[in-house]
Amino acid sequence: MSYIVAKFGGTSLANFEAMSRCADVVLASKETRLVVVSASSGVTNLLVSLGRGSLNEAQCHEAVSKIRDIQNAIIAHLTLSDEQQQHIESLLSRITDISVAVSQSESSSLELADELLSFGEQLSSFLFTQVLVERGEKASWFDVRQVMRTSSDFSKAIVSLDDLKSSVVEKLLPILEKNVVVTQGFIGADEQNRTTTLGRGGSDYSAALLGEAVGCSQINIWTDVSGIFTTDPRITSQAYALEEISFNEAAEMAIYGAKVLHPSTLIPAMRQNIPVFVGSSREPDAGGTIVRNETESKPVYRAIALRRAQTLVTVTSMAMLHAPGFLARVFAILAKHNLSIDLVTTSEVSVALTLDDTGVNSGGKSQLSEALLNELKEICQVKIEQDLALVAIIGNAIDSSNGVGSRLFSALDDVNIRMICQGASSHNLCFLIDEDQATDVISRLHHSMFEQNTQGAA
Ligand code: ADP
Ligand code: ASP
Ligand code: MG
Repeated sequence: MSYIVAKFGGTSLANFEAMSRCADVVLASKETRLVVVSASSGVTNLLVSLGRGSLNEAQCHEAVSKIRDIQNAIIAHLTLSDEQQQHIESLLSRITDISVAVSQSESSSLELADELLSFGEQLSSFLFTQVLVERGEKASWFDVRQVMRTSSDFSKAIVSLDDLKSSVVEKLLPILEKNVVVTQGFIGADEQNRTTTLGRGGSDYSAALLGEAVGCSQINIWTDVSGIFTTDPRITSQAYALEEISFNEAAEMAIYGAKVLHPSTLIPAMRQNIPVFVGSSREPDAGGTIVRNETESKPVYRAIALRRAQTLVTVTSMAMLHAPGFLARVFAILAKHNLSIDLVTTSEVSVALTLDDTGVNSGGKSQLSEALLNELKEICQVKIEQDLALVAIIGNAIDSSNGVGSRLFSALDDVNIRMICQGASSHNLCFLIDEDQATDVISRLHHSMFEQNTQGAA
């Protein structure tokens, strides 16, 4: 049988009404058998605040009671058995116990934080299963940690793909043949059965991985917007939904900040050539965007992505002049501290780079540690500039089309472009600007590329 995987994000599961709309979506398609859910909107953020260990006991109780209120508002519309009520209670009291323990401990623990974070998805998946059951669907709750085995890198765990495939075949497919299965995005478990998470926004990635493992025909990402837009619709009301976009373009968009998809989501989809649909659970009939290998249109300008809070690190050393090996040493230090580099530009004696923050852990810790900076300073001068934003123009044949630069520079002739990178990929042109100019820059570029020319997005 060919399955469709449906993933619902936080806003789609924010309350009972929203969950009911998601149930409509599931019930409307017989092929939709595997449902992957995020935590209800707001819950993960509350759990992150609890996991940081900076709240006192009273504040912990306050945060837990906000989580409890979100659950209770949903439960009020359901008929739960005593056993089911107790299950919810036990999850909530576990949240309280761990957060009080975290608040009393000297140092924060990524392991405990991951366990805390997992309760958001555990709660929402349990309640959404019940919503489906009460709508007459044969639905089962499935603990994804049985199959989503990961490394022990708490807060940004790496999934073991071979284990996933074999345990899905053994443990998930047999249930899927009989029932609709509701499971958790974002979480996994390591070899010692300790709960891990895949990084913020990771439920999209979980859905794609599970879709690949069950051999699904399509992955549907149901969110709060009707597709992938020419740019974040929160930045400009002129943004519009794209009918189609290629895997490569969408992957670049996600990497360069379009939050609508987690940056890793398209990797499993591309591996198996599984189309990904993005649509709104609030307006499922409004259509959405299909992401696939080949698109009919290949416009030079498809979309603009924005990544805020960027840090530019410039390392300078006269020793670099005509000296082999300097770059290798800088990159080795960054690699030793587990950082990967994103944009790079070089001159004779300096290198400017931004750090790839797509794998930033669920706790959102700063990547530039004292230890790293000290090591760099042993071989060069280091300058750090913060509060920058990375803008990425996404499209096709950007490296071989005339006029891209002139369009950019003329739209932004009064803006200080801090760094610019183009040429490595035919799908993007990236540059850095001051973060406080980001909204204005995107609106102006959007106007120039999508509101008055014929080359823009389809
Ligand atoms: P979910 O909780 O469903 O996973 P997210 O908040 O993670 O939803 O992603 C949806 C949000 O992504 C939208 O509300 C929108 O503001 C943002 N977004 C950023 N860039 C884009 C884009 N190009 N197209 C659509 N949405 C975008
Ligand atoms: N609930 C997690 C988060 O808020 C995962 C997700 O929503 O995809 O990051
Ligand atoms: Mg998301």
